[in-house]
Amino acid sequence: MTEVLDVAKKDGRWTECPACKEIIITKRLEENLLVCPHCDFHFRLGGKDRIALTCDDKGFVELDLAPSAAESHAKTLETPLRGGMATIKGQACVLAVMDFSVKGGSMGVDMAQKIITLMQHAHKTARPLVMFCASGGVRVQEGIWGLLQMIRTVHARNTTANVPMVTVFTDPTLGGVTASFSALADILLAEPGSRIGFAGPRVIEYTINYPLLPPDFQDASRLLSNGFLDRIVHRHQLRDTLSYLLQWF
Ligand SMILES: [Zn+2]
Repeated sequence: MTEVLDVAKKDGRWTECPACKEIIITKRLEENLLVCPHCDFHFRLGGKDRIALTCDDKGFVELDLAPSAAESHAKTLETPLRGGMATIKGQACVLAVMDFSVKGGSMGVDMAQKIITLMQHAHKTARPLVMFCASGGVRVQEGIWGLLQMIRTVHARNTTANVPMVTVFTDPTLGGVTASFSALADILLAEPGSRIGFAGPRVIEYTINYPLLPPDFQDASRLLSNGFLDRIVHRHQLRDTLSYLLQWF
């Protein structure tokens, strides 16, 4: 029986939930918006799936965000950030979606430029901005240029401060993305179980030599009780919640 399960998992027909270890038929999992039907664990979503689950039918028009020459040849494959004009249950907005599966959703010069362009576009078109974050932080391979993107995006947010902005933190959002523009939104939402923070727990434990961080450290529920988040929203309610919020802007 174990061998049958292994084969079914390998060819993608069945999926094991990493939280409760239940084996789920993949099609059923997809119908449930990639939320475990047994324990409510939220699987990570790619950018394409996130857009499909969030926007109305034909409700997303991707903007050409001018990729660099280095990136343009790979543009047709996957990009760590997609953005465009969107409608969510009829409510218009500018939507940005990060994809953790592409280079850890890391923010380098290119991604920051796209974020800035989307902020300016929202400002120009007088639409609110909805940002789905999923990132390991700034792109360390770009060294100081990576770090500078925190300042650039914060500056862009400050200069477009009249644009209503909603951030949805998804698992995981860490490092320089948490510590810059994403936390400057007017409304901060998160999916259940998302890990949101700056440095990871192991780095903190090692640095301060204190190995007793609480088990829910950097979990969305703890951040909500600490007042960092406004609300934790189940993936099934996300479209309703966003369209409800957007109608006020
Ligand atoms: Zn589960």
